[in-house]
Amino acid sequence: MTSEQYIESLRKMNLKVYLFGKLIENPVDHPMIRPSMNSVAMTYKLAEMDEYKDLMTAKSNLTGKTVNRFCHLHQNTEDLVKKVKMQRLLGQKTAACFQRCVGMDAFNAIYSTTFEIDEKHGTEYHKRFVDYLKFVQDNDLTVDGAMTDPKGDRGLSPSQQSDPDMYVRIVEERADGIVVRGAKAHQTGAVNSHEHLIMPTIAMKEEDKDYAVSFAVPSDAEGVFMIYGRQSCDTRKMEEGADIDVGNSQFGGHEALVIFEDVFVPWNRVFLCKEYEFAGMMVERFAGYHRQSYGGCKVGVGDVLIGASALAADYNGAAKANHIKDKLVEMTHLNETLYSCGIACSCEGQKTKAGNYQIDLLLANVCKQNVTRFPYEIARLAEDIAGGIMVTMPSEADYRDEKIGKYVHKYIQGVDSVDTENRMRVLRLIENMTLGTAAVGYRTESLHGAGSPQAQRIMIARQGNIEGKKQLAKVIAKVDESKNKTKK
Ligand code: SF4
Ligand code: FE
Repeated sequence: MTSEQYIESLRKMNLKVYLFGKLIENPVDHPMIRPSMNSVAMTYKLAEMDEYKDLMTAKSNLTGKTVNRFCHLHQNTEDLVKKVKMQRLLGQKTAACFQRCVGMDAFNAIYSTTFEIDEKHGTEYHKRFVDYLKFVQDNDLTVDGAMTDPKGDRGLSPSQQSDPDMYVRIVEERADGIVVRGAKAHQTGAVNSHEHLIMPTIAMKEEDKDYAVSFAVPSDAEGVFMIYGRQSCDTRKMEEGADIDVGNSQFGGHEALVIFEDVFVPWNRVFLCKEYEFAGMMVERFAGYHRQSYGGCKVGVGDVLIGASALAADYNGAAKANHIKDKLVEMTHLNETLYSCGIACSCEGQKTKAGNYQIDLLLANVCKQNVTRFPYEIARLAEDIAGGIMVTMPSEADYRDEKIGKYVHKYIQGVDSVDTENRMRVLRLIENMTLGTAAVGYRTESLHGAGSPQAQRIMIARQGNIEGKKQLAKVIAKVDESKNKTKK
């Protein structure tokens, strides 16, 4: 699809989206929603451009056709590296979350997991999933890969919750399919997606088997509706004449609470049904891919933030100060460290039993653990360089006002050669990325998206091979363990 066709395809859907307590009649043209849709549209637009085709498209192993890389199954480590580079590019072009990665990461995780479920249980999930993915590739769809359940009491398993709907579950099994109920929370890009592709959110035991479910439904399926998530400073997007104040008026990201109120799913769209011992594998693989993703997307957004900080320094007349130069070096060092991890976990990828490639799980988790820290430091340095004016500056309406505009122009001026409006625009962009709507994607999502810090530490503990490292130390230190047994 072209980007225009993508937008039109959403217009044709009967999406049920609530915002501020009201059902939105036309989400496509809603001023608070549209910038996030524009970000997804860039995944289509760049794929049309010759200079980006190598990164943005790939040859499908399923059909032999050229497909958007966001619908592709990684066939080798080069594909994994290109994925990260593509995400950095899109971060640079949107300075926001472009949302389509959750689907790509779900495709690759479900493809390999279903293969292994079938191997053990003689089921036909993999074949069903391949058929589904061909449909997605042929129609160039955006798919919301959905994992996170509301979870209720975090100390209790799904089946122990006082409200049984705190995790998405199978409420009925029929001859023609299943009926599901529950919700997925903070779903990136849900409103901009043609389909929702659901996975479980944690490893499960037998008593939780009704919750071990993976399936796909169209976003406008009967019983599916979404409640749009609020973001810091989001209503600026609804103000007239606030283009400067918004900071990034073209692009954004969003999350939504997606509710499944007894939704029927035909069998050909069910990819896991009660084989509870595979829930953990699906979670781990999806999370691994998405932790790799952050070594691309956050780096691209970081590039824009570093650039905006350097511009702010230029416009303040402070660019020559040594501490400013050093802060820009520090920001670059942190940002490129994130990228290094994203590339490294891709280069060290391995073939799965199903044939697609998976990242190195340890390195992907290290990548994401760094992402839970470095963007905060980069944002701190950006605010340091920008100065307090970034949050105390008058509005665009004041700047344009006949009577007081001239004062804003005069006193918000930095260096003589730079127009006051340009200075305001750059400062508002920094505000947007560090405190405004894009801060959702750059800051808090860096912490909690693709799993909170502790989730990576559990994986790092599991993958870190401490026993093997102890062995290395024993050899070097000439430890003789037989002596340990003799007690005096
Ligand atoms: Fe893609 Fe990054 Fe947004 Fe996840 S947070 S969907 S990886 S842009
Ligand atoms: Fe995310």
